[in-house]
Amino acid sequence: MRLWITLTFVLLTGTATATELVINYKSWISDNDRQHVETWLNHGMNAAERTLGELKQPALTATIEPILFASEPVPWGSVQRGRLDSLNLHVKRFTPSRILVKDWTIYHEIAHLYHPLLAHSDFWIAEGLATYLQNVIMLENSLFDINEFRARLTSGLNRGAKNTQLHNGGLSSVSENMWSLKAQQRVYWSGAAFFMEAELALKASLSPHTVRSLIAKFQQCCKSSHPSGLENSGRLFIAKLDKLSKTTIFSNLYASYKQRNDFPILSRAEIATLQPLR
Ligand SMILES: [Zn+2]
Repeated sequence: MRLWITLTFVLLTGTATATELVINYKSWISDNDRQHVETWLNHGMNAAERTLGELKQPALTATIEPILFASEPVPWGSVQRGRLDSLNLHVKRFTPSRILVKDWTIYHEIAHLYHPLLAHSDFWIAEGLATYLQNVIMLENSLFDINEFRARLTSGLNRGAKNTQLHNGGLSSVSENMWSLKAQQRVYWSGAAFFMEAELALKASLSPHTVRSLIAKFQQCCKSSHPSGLENSGRLFIAKLDKLSKTTIFSNLYASYKQRNDFPILSRAEIATLQPLR
């Protein structure tokens, strides 16, 4: 059995958030690295809450594993579901906070905390939402501008389309076997396209809502009582987004997306009109 040194620190994050951040380190970390990690985690929480509203859990534990050799500042992250959801993040040692804050991983993982745990067949919704929202959070917090936002979405959609040529089953069944099929790009970016289409449809219907404002509402009203990890968790989550937006946009898209064998096409003109912060 591997023995970890676990050092726990409790940080009260800035005034923008009421969530207490608790940091566990799975191995020794220098004082200097620890300061950079703490600055980065605080920034990540504040950035996510600025975009998606208050996270309705009293404490968030982030377990940090410092890594010596990695090709990226944050080579791996995941969410651990429980009574209180928590984060696991691998961090390359000696990385200053100004580099860490530019990495997308933390925004993606915190975005997952705003939706319920979904069944494997609906992973495309979970991963698509986190992938879309990570870019919305980074845009709103000036980590890049609207041109970079659209460029990142465009290149992601291109990767998804390419990956779909290798995996042409229905999206729900490919999602269930995403890891063994190596179909992550299709699953993540089909889901991101779903939320981009929803964003465009909300705007076209003159709705006052955006995807991020609906997710913020869901967090406040509904996430803590929503069925977690069940077969119908995804369908009920989609139904709730319809109810909150007073539309049928999400369930109509859901009905067509879950069965689809192809990759959704969004035109350059559509991507150019995406306004996630309006
Ligand atoms: Zn994810």
